[in-house]
Amino acid sequence: MTAVDGAEGPCPTVRTAGGAELPADLVVAADGIRSALRRAYFPAHPGLHYLGETAWRTIVDAPDLGIRAMSETWGRGERFGITPLADGRFYLYATALAPAGTRSADPRAELLDRFGSWHDPIPALLDRVRRLDPADVLQNDLHDLAAPLPRLHHGRIAWVGDAAHAMAPNLGQGGCQAIEDAVVLAHLLPAGGAPDPGPGPGAADPVPAALAAYTAARRDRTDAVRVRARRVGRLGALRHPLAAAARDAAVRAVPDRLALRGMDGLFNGFRLPARQPR
Ligand SMILES: Cc1cc2nc3c(=O)[nH]c(=O)nc-3n(C[C@H](O)[C@H](O)[C@H](O)COP(=O)(O)OP(=O)(O)OC[C@H]3O[C@@H](n4cnc5c(N)ncnc54)[C@H](O)[C@@H]3O)c2cc1C
Repeated sequence: MTAVDGAEGPCPTVRTAGGAELPADLVVAADGIRSALRRAYFPAHPGLHYLGETAWRTIVDAPDLGIRAMSETWGRGERFGITPLADGRFYLYATALAPAGTRSADPRAELLDRFGSWHDPIPALLDRVRRLDPADVLQNDLHDLAAPLPRLHHGRIAWVGDAAHAMAPNLGQGGCQAIEDAVVLAHLLPAGGAPDPGPGPGAADPVPAALAAYTAARRDRTDAVRVRARRVGRLGALRHPLAAAARDAAVRAVPDRLALRGMDGLFNGFRLPARQPR
């Protein structure tokens, strides 16, 4: 997709790099964090904000290490996370404060250098990372949207996922919120998301109303998650020893029950909006 023309009219045209011109009832802009459609339709929006951290991700086989629980360890300006997957595999992620674009010659060596002396089982897992192909270690600098979009639709275009509300990965919510977007959009569209048959003579066009309802249902929730994810990242990335020590003491002092209750809005806060009367 290179452009969408006539988004405000009844039948926008999607243009592709191959020269195709595709008529559409609705265009779902799911083109990711660097959404070209977001830039085209919200030219005054400030775009992306660099969060000051880079992140590595990979998957290792380690059925013999006896790791059962997921964990995330906060250091000073660095974090390391372990998530058990099926079949003895583990999803590992790590973050570090770094200027945008910083890359080492070998990400495996950098991970070992930064986290190799951390607590068990991190060194043993990094030993598995050492045996991977370097290309199997993903590295992304972390960005979120500098400000919320004024709305998540324009004419017959609806923005979903990172295109709509790119957020820091600290709450593991970017993909989750994209799924919520899709569920709400399908719920609000005529016939649960089937192509709009088009307004009959004199009938009200239901798509713009559905997209306005989509913005009303999703904009504030997704932006609250974006803001919260950024705050959690700031806390996790504290580098000054005193600040990090105060943070660690405060986190330890919060009872698990309260910490879990604090996540209620995130995990139990999803509601399907009422459908528009047709
Ligand atoms: C380090 C890290 C860890 C993360 N951890 C989690 C997690 O634990 N849980 C979670 O829920 N989320 C997590 N996320 C966030 C998650 O990856 C994103 O929120 C999610 O991938 C967004 O999905 P999307 O479909 O909106 O965008 P993307 O996955 O980026 O997909 C966009 C797609 O659009 C395509 N595209 C772009 N431009 C065009 C164009 N012009 N025409 C056609 N196609 C185009 C791209 O090729 C791509 O395939 C993490 C992100 C990072 C960086």
